[in-house]
Amino acid sequence: MNRYSALLLARALACAPQHAQVLTPVRIDTSGAIVVVDTSSLGQPRTSRVTLNEAEFASLSGRTTADDPLARIDRMDWPGPNAYRAASGMPGPQYWQQRADYTITASLDTTAQRVSGSVTIRYTNNSPDTLRFVWLQLDQNLYKPGSKGSALFPADSRWGVRGFQGGFELSGVQVNGRSATVRVDDTMGRIDLDQPIVPAGGKATISMSFAFRVPEHGSDRMGRDGTLYEIAQWYPRMAVYDDIRGWNTDPYFGQGEFYLEYGDFDVSITAPAGYTIAASGVLQNPTEVLSAAERERLARAAKSDSVIAVITRAEAVATPTPGTKTWRFHAENVRDVAWAGAPDFRWDAVNADGVLAQAYYQQAKAGAAWEQAAEQTAWTIRNFSELFANYPYPQATSVAGPVGGMEYPMFVMVHYGNEAGDPKSIFGTINHEHGHEWFPMVVGSNERRYAWMDEGFNTYIDAFALDRRYPGTNTWPSYVANWKATVDAGIDTPLMTPPDRIDARALGAIGYRKPGAVLLALRNNVVGKETFDRAFREYVRRWSYKHPSPADFFRTVENVSGMDLGWYWTAFFYGTGRLDIGIDNVMMRQQEGQNYAVVTLRRNSAVPFPVHLRLRFADASTQDVELPVEIWSKGDRHEAVIAVKAPVVGVRLWPEGVVPDWNATNDIWGTPPAASANGSATTGGLSGEIGGRATP
Ligand SMILES: [Zn+2]
Repeated sequence: MNRYSALLLARALACAPQHAQVLTPVRIDTSGAIVVVDTSSLGQPRTSRVTLNEAEFASLSGRTTADDPLARIDRMDWPGPNAYRAASGMPGPQYWQQRADYTITASLDTTAQRVSGSVTIRYTNNSPDTLRFVWLQLDQNLYKPGSKGSALFPADSRWGVRGFQGGFELSGVQVNGRSATVRVDDTMGRIDLDQPIVPAGGKATISMSFAFRVPEHGSDRMGRDGTLYEIAQWYPRMAVYDDIRGWNTDPYFGQGEFYLEYGDFDVSITAPAGYTIAASGVLQNPTEVLSAAERERLARAAKSDSVIAVITRAEAVATPTPGTKTWRFHAENVRDVAWAGAPDFRWDAVNADGVLAQAYYQQAKAGAAWEQAAEQTAWTIRNFSELFANYPYPQATSVAGPVGGMEYPMFVMVHYGNEAGDPKSIFGTINHEHGHEWFPMVVGSNERRYAWMDEGFNTYIDAFALDRRYPGTNTWPSYVANWKATVDAGIDTPLMTPPDRIDARALGAIGYRKPGAVLLALRNNVVGKETFDRAFREYVRRWSYKHPSPADFFRTVENVSGMDLGWYWTAFFYGTGRLDIGIDNVMMRQQEGQNYAVVTLRRNSAVPFPVHLRLRFADASTQDVELPVEIWSKGDRHEAVIAVKAPVVGVRLWPEGVVPDWNATNDIWGTPPAASANGSATTGGLSGEIGGRATP
């Protein structure tokens, strides 16, 4: 923990909670008989004014240099409003979305370490456009020698290819039963169509065979470890065609995630007979692949509030078994499917309010921590359901393996537990990865362009879940410290930066923790907790199983809150602005027996912010004052004139904390009152009822 976060924490924990009192600043005539009391004469120290030179100002202000800090974003800079996306942030009356239903048949060859199979995509064109070509995502081509991703990310990095050479082998490509060609361009491929797909419901059936060698380190999104296979980005997938960009053809470089259409999947996986396969979706043929005992335990687990071992520790032993078995899974209203297989999985399952929560792990590598994974999975599904929207799928699976943490519909990959077997060593990742079931699995944003709508939203909701699981957990200091570290390292970029263009060292901050902090600060200080919770759930309700753009989120928050937040989006999403508001000076005046405190505030960067002041009097009592963001519309200095009962001896800015003020030294004056001991940024949890079930 660095000094800055230590300070924030100290401020947050310093004293008992105080109730904020809103007081309208009083404007008084400065002419006439006014007694000016400079409190320095009362023996109180005065904070010297912090003056920044131009370079420091520019540095703090980042890339947003608008003279008017409250300059409104021209709403026409955002896509729409139009018939597809409404000005209010909801899907428009003619909103449309493509659909892709898949049938996939694949085999795992553990000798050749290959997956091969065939895919049939039934594609529905709901757009108003005639499509004469379609685009596919061919993610395995990241491992083709000379791929763009292998040039961009060092081979030994998290997203790197580690020298592995593979890629898709495609054959037998057909559209509507007629031979076709995929024109491959790195990780994307275009098929020109003999017969165009007509608008508003036209269909095409695209099929082909595919095969690839499984990389050991699949850019930390898939891979294998000995006999364990974790398979994802594994079949040709339809690119998204939407009303914003048409075909979304951003290639897969490794660091940027995915943007996918919704559909139903039928998947069958043939694997060595001794293997257990876990996958997205629901197992369709348990009688063919599970023993009678396993089927009985699974049925019991579906109704049990305590964890049932479907494959026990004693049974989880690799036994050479001749032949193969085919596992069939079905998934509805999902963007993707992934799976894993091993010959010695332990398999635990438990009921989570009607959802089957499951954990698959190899005891020797995953360790004792994973014996808690099914319970952790159930907890996570139950809690996010209570907080944001009901989990809509029938099952939720966690698999232990070499992948650090990666999410797919109903199925997440989480790293092995630590050597001590501490359940906490995996909880954070299990919680985070299942949080992705809401963002982006249900709320289907474009992850490849906007990490903050995926990792950022998820990191925001994780803060509430962690505080529920381990009461008092305050994620705020670590979120802000991580953001600050990227600024100090000179690798800060706006949140709107596509993830592949974020410095890999800054991804944790820019993709995850800075948006987490920025959303917490927006909720706690600007929009207000109750209103923000309402707006956030409304966004989830509006865009479940759809493709929201950033503007749809911004517009929804503005419409629910009734606030123009252009300044907030400008500073913290479009720019790299940093907030530094400080107290310059405090003077006392008296008029007709009434005391007035004149608090001079200074904004040392382009970023405005509403101000919360706590004034302290000689008897240690306090008075809270809230000033709206509009005080900064006229410049970088504001004199707040406040009616008070007695001379003020000290002032503290933002006593409740959870404000990303970059410079704490100018946030106090005199003998300041203590900051509120308000626990954490998420104290009190979310307000109100959940936004309703996110049904397909
Ligand atoms: Zn994530």
